[in-house]
Amino acid sequence: MTTSLSKFLKTTRPGPAHRCAGCNTFSLRTHTAPATQEDEVICTNPSCGESPLHREA
Ligand SMILES: [Zn+2]
Repeated sequence: MTTSLSKFLKTTRPGPAHRCAGCNTFSLRTHTAPATQEDEVICTNPSCGESPLHREA
């Protein structure tokens, strides 16, 4: 994924108020795919293995 964080955040809104299963923080946001309008819950913690922003070192 090459989407920048700032651009990414504009396409999301505050997500469910529960902890991420991957990193145990409240970093979840809801992302709506522009093409399909389908909602998906994503984690915005770059160090979280569950997050699409996560980069393998
Ligand atoms: Zn997470």
